[in-house]
Formats: sequence, C-alpha cells, structure tokens
Amino acid sequence: MLSDRFKSMAVNPFAFGPTPRIVFGDGSLASIAEHITRYGRSITLVTGASSFAGSPHFKTLVNNLDKAGIKYCRISVSGEPSPEIIDAAVRECKKSASRAVVAIGGGSVLDAGKAIAAMAMVDGSVTEYMEVVGTKKHPGNKLPFIAVPTTSGTGSEATRNAVISKVGPQGFKYSLRHENFMPDVALVDPRLMLSCPVGITAACGMDALTQLLESFVSTKADPISSALALSGIKSIKENLLAACAHGAGDINVRACMAYAALMSGLALAHAGLGVVHGFAAAIGGLFNVPHGVICGNLLAPCIKITIERLKESSSGNNPFLAKYAAAGAALADSDSFDIYASCTVLLDVLYKWREELKIPNLSRFGVSEKDSAEIIKRTDCKNNPIKLSADDVSRILKESL
Ligand code: NAD
Repeated sequence: MLSDRFKSMAVNPFAFGPTPRIVFGDGSLASIAEHITRYGRSITLVTGASSFAGSPHFKTLVNNLDKAGIKYCRISVSGEPSPEIIDAAVRECKKSASRAVVAIGGGSVLDAGKAIAAMAMVDGSVTEYMEVVGTKKHPGNKLPFIAVPTTSGTGSEATRNAVISKVGPQGFKYSLRHENFMPDVALVDPRLMLSCPVGITAACGMDALTQLLESFVSTKADPISSALALSGIKSIKENLLAACAHGAGDINVRACMAYAALMSGLALAHAGLGVVHGFAAAIGGLFNVPHGVICGNLLAPCIKITIERLKESSSGNNPFLAKYAAAGAALADSDSFDIYASCTVLLDVLYKWREELKIPNLSRFGVSEKDSAEIIKRTDCKNNPIKLSADDVSRILKESL
C-alpha cells in the first residue's frame, strides 16, 4: 500500500502517538504567549547564541512576553548540546521556578530545551539517564515543553528524544529518550527559516530527507508513519533545491521545507531510522561534523548498498524495494511501473542532489580511512530494511570521505 503504483505492505497491528499539538504557519510565532499561558507565566527560554537572538523576531517575542506578563529565565546554547551544557542549564532552570520550557532555534537548541524540561524533574547529570551511557531510567515526568524550530531539518519539534554529544576519541552521541518527552506544542513558523544560509538549508534539508526515507522504509514503519513520510518526501521534491537557490526568500518554499521536516520528525518518532543514522551517531561522537552533512553525504551510498543487498536476498516482489521505488517515483517525475527502474531513479536523484547541494565530504572535517575501524565498530544498522555487513559499511564510508 501507500504508493499509487507499487503495492507493497500489509497493514499490521500498530500504535501511533503521542504527537504534539501542532501550530503551523507564517507568523504563528505571534501566538506563542497564548500557548505558554496554559502552563503559567514563568518560563525558561532557550535560544541559540546569536542567529535568533540577534533577529528582529527576538525583539517582537520579548514584547509579546512582556505584554502577556510572562517572565523568562534566558539560556543560550551554542553548538550541539553536551552533557555539561545541559547540566548547567538545568541548574539555572531549577533556580527559576519555571512552569514550562520554550526552545526557539535549530535542532541543537530544541534538543537542549527538551532535555532541560526532562532533567528539571530529576537529580543528577543527564548522562546518567541517557541511552547506552547511562544506567538510570527516567520516570518520564517533565516540564511542559514548547518547541519552535528555526531550521528545516531535524524534526525535533515532533520527536521524543534529545540528542546529546561529547565529541572526541572517547566521545559519544546518544539520546535522552522517553515517550513522554514529545513536545507539548510544536510551533512551526516558516518565517523564522528565511534567514538560514544556503549551506545550513542544504544540510538540514538532506537531514529531513534522510529521516523521511529511513522512516518510510524502516522495519518498524506503520501505515500512518509511512503516509506522513511520503507526504514529506513529496514536499521536499519541489522545494529543497529551490530553498537553496532562487526560492530562499520565498515563504511558500520555506513552508514546504518546514512541513517536510515536521513530517520527518513525526515519522521517525514512530518508525525509527536506518543505517545512515547509525553512522551519524558513530561519526558525530568522534568528530565535529554537522549532523545534516553526515546524512547528506551518506544517504545515497547507504541506500545504494541496501537496495543491492535486498535485490540479492529476494526474488522480485520485496516490499522494501517497492517502498524505495515509491519514494523514487515521488521524488522524480518518473512514470515507470518497474520497481528496479524506480529504485535507480531514486538513487540518481540522491546522488545528483548531493552534488548540486555541494554537501562537503567527511574528510573536510578530519575523518579519514584510519578512523574506519572505530566508525564501523560503532555503526548500528538500526531499523534498516536489511542488516549491512562490516564490508558494506566500510565501502559506504570510503565513498563519503
Ligand atoms: P543546529 O541547531 O546545530 O544549527 C546549525 C547552525 O544554524 C547554528 O550555527 C545555528 O545558529 C544556525 N541557525 C539555526 N537557525 C538559523 C536561522 N533561522 N538563520 C540562520 N542561522 C540559523 O543544526 P540542526 O541541523 O538544526 O540540528 C542539529 C542537531 O539536531 C544535532 O545535534 C542532531 O544530532 C540533532 N538532531 C536531533 C533529532 C531529534 O529527533 N531530536 C533529529 C535529528 C537531529
């Protein structure tokens, strides 16, 4: 199901939810006080160091908060959040008696806000509660959390995890995760994305596309997550290249990208991700590479090898190949009914976009062949349609250096 042409999946049992209350639209930031006052009049406000805070939107926000009598404790987060940044921010939040957390920024800021809202209710460092590195189970209570994205990529405004990293040879990149950590409100105002420069728009757009494709073909996909993912893929088709060129100042183009990113978050929160994100966790813990650059680089080679292995292991009517074919048909103007031909169309588009969007190679960030063994050891295939071997992972990495 889910594709007009490539019938593929049965409807197996599934559960879908929770989702945030979604408020989407040009100018929607103006309504933020109305959402905050449901929880109280004292908040922790998390932003990045400069881009939003230096924009006219910030002054308007402060005026709106003042008018509504909302007091705020301001925390600024620069770069992808580390445990130290979260722990220090949580101390500030606890001192402030905040009734809610509001985060306005890229995925890094949203993840920081999500983690602060969760850690404000417990003692100890965030590392103690994180997947893989921690040993404690978070009880799942949190301060109400409002997420306002300023990039179109991570979909963190609609996911239940916050990615925290410590970068270096002993580094890690894992999540603080709980079903209850889904933001209460995802307020998506595409006007906030108009200022995103081309490199960030491209990398974030490739992150959203990776999340959409990986959740669409995930072994945990369900009919709703698949429908949302396909709708996001269609929205990216016309708009990713435009957002990085003539359409960068076009609010409708930015809205379509913001919608795609939102769909990617909803889809991944329910269906999980694949091997590209296995790589992203491994490489992101070892090197300072923007998350979207890792995804943009590895997406095409990961799908290429996955499709090769699926073809070898099945005779023709493989439901995952049918889904890749449906994604190919959605991303390109292809009218083929042939599954293999449509998979090739998908790969052609992904390689072409990586080129056209000038996604830098990983070697630009210091990743080299000598790091292969460590990266391969750390790379998990997650919910990829088929498990890849260490040789496959090594081949993918070589192509992306
Ligand atoms: P980011 O938040 O790190 O921001 C990248 C840069 O863009 C920063 O310099 C920031 O200041 C700037 N920026 C943000 N908005 C801008 C705007 N409107 N105009 C101009 N500049 C702007 O990048 P990101 O890709 O949005 O987030 C990456 C982080 O999100 C990573 O840590 C990644 O692991 C995480 N992530 C989380 C999830 C999740 O579900 N929680 C999913 C995917 C990725």
